[in-house]
Amino acid sequence: MREENCIFCKIANGGIPSVTLYEDEDFRVILDLGPATRGHALLLPKEHYKDLFELEDEVAQKVLVRAKRIAGRMKDALGADGMNLVQNNGEAAGQTVFHFHMHLIPRYKDDRAGILWKPGETTPEEMEEIKRLVDSQ
Ligand code: 5GP
Ligand code: ZN
Repeated sequence: MREENCIFCKIANGGIPSVTLYEDEDFRVILDLGPATRGHALLLPKEHYKDLFELEDEVAQKVLVRAKRIAGRMKDALGADGMNLVQNNGEAAGQTVFHFHMHLIPRYKDDRAGILWKPGETTPEEMEEIKRLVDSQ
């Protein structure tokens, strides 16, 4: 399924030109227009899924295999020191384009990209409560 008004459907299927690092029958990997670091790319399925929770299992499996292969190639080619794979679901999680995508973000020593979080605090009681809630689903 492709969505008429979805920009990533258009880009993934070639309707809008993009700088493409990889393409096969299911996916396209493009450079992000607002990169966090040099080489920040997005892995887009050609079919429309709003987010992770809509993704078919078969596509979900392929996502990680593709991400692994392309991120490795990018890391070597760009001389990156590390790589973040980031995937946002829902506005609260920072998703701004509602077509599933995986960010492939090369990291360079001292690049200062603001991707990681400051550790918070928890308690054993809270951890048990979280476990109970998830187990009861
Ligand atoms: P999200 O915040 O939804 O996880 O990520 C959306 C990403 O898409 C952002 O990093 C943003 O810079 C990128 N982006 C938004 N529109 C376009 C576009 O038209 N072309 C490309 N190449 N990237 C886009
Ligand atoms: Zn779409």
